[in-house]
Amino acid sequence: MRLTIVADDGSVSPAPERLASPSAWSLRPDDLAERARSAGVGGSAAHLFRQLQRVSTWRSGQPDVGREARRLLDGLDRSLPAIVDEAPSADGSVRMVLRTVDGHHIEAVHMPRPHVGTPRTTFCISSQVGCAMGCTFCATGTMGIVRNLSAGEIVGQVLALMAAKGPATGHQLNLVFMGMGEPLHNLDNVARAVEVLCDERGVGLSPRRITVSTSGLVPALARFAALPVRPLLSVSINATTDETRSRVMPVNRSFNLAALKAALRAFPFRRGEKVLLAYVLLRGENDAVEDVLRLAEFAAGLHANVNLIPLNEHERSTHRAPDDDWVATFSRHLYDALAARDFRGVLTVRNNRGRDARGACGQLVQGEPRRRRTGTTPGDDSDAGRVVDGAPGPPHRSR
Ligand code: SF4
Repeated sequence: MRLTIVADDGSVSPAPERLASPSAWSLRPDDLAERARSAGVGGSAAHLFRQLQRVSTWRSGQPDVGREARRLLDGLDRSLPAIVDEAPSADGSVRMVLRTVDGHHIEAVHMPRPHVGTPRTTFCISSQVGCAMGCTFCATGTMGIVRNLSAGEIVGQVLALMAAKGPATGHQLNLVFMGMGEPLHNLDNVARAVEVLCDERGVGLSPRRITVSTSGLVPALARFAALPVRPLLSVSINATTDETRSRVMPVNRSFNLAALKAALRAFPFRRGEKVLLAYVLLRGENDAVEDVLRLAEFAAGLHANVNLIPLNEHERSTHRAPDDDWVATFSRHLYDALAARDFRGVLTVRNNRGRDARGACGQLVQGEPRRRRTGTTPGDDSDAGRVVDGAPGPPHRSR
């Protein structure tokens, strides 16, 4: 059976949207200038954009704008997702629950990296409330799809995290769309949010510091490839046969491994760019020796890096993670199999940050916020999407 969002002709039906006024957070300087012209309001649109998007200029958690600018923003939605819960993890990351203006809970993870001596912080953010893709190992997948986040809510999520926990500027920030939702099922809003966040007059993120992770929604890949501001791409593979992949990732029933590989072969990679092939290891499902060879075969010939991710177990799934020794053995065999196929990417094994705070990959789900806790520290795979050129090195833990 296909995913319910995929029609017989392979087209994908869109997720519901929240009906609301346009959001101030999703406007580019050109949009603000156009609005100023039609409202007959003076002042510099670039300056207002800077005031909106740079949290370092805010006062009391809000942009500090003058009367003229407030006139210009009249009628726009200026609500930011509210942080309603924080769960710190022992590794320094913090799982954050945010409430949208219409009362839904979404999750993001704030992951500073002082333990590797870098001032950079990675945010793992959500693109939808819930998710239609139904991956069986994923807590979000059990929710079904509620609605898309708007571009303003995606930008607002980033700004809310920056204002609450830093960093103050985008130059020290990496972004991964690996929270709740399938970003390519909400591509218009994700693309607009990325464009706004990468504008140098505002947050000034580099698109090469943003990774968008997809379950393999093949028809959206060509549109993603053509984005004017295109982030890096990560694709969840998670099985090496169509039989297993269709069982754990229903998207495979519509777009199978062969279709996915063909789309990745046709993808117009830029110089030095690679796709990150993510592989969640599920004990007894996809971690056999035969899987090593098939995974190496899938990766062979692609501009790719490979990231092995031991499953984050949670109560909404019966899947289990392989033990650490088997993860090490699987990665060693995979390294050998990739090297034998002249694979030119990097193999990493993810250190799942935030696991103890339920903030690790596949553990994010809408629920009641827990009682606020403070004081201790938590997790990312902040290297997910990091492009590293060169011949394969021995497998190592990503941090
Ligand atoms: S793994 Fe990603 S695509 Fe799959 S159900 Fe979870 S959030 Fe959706």
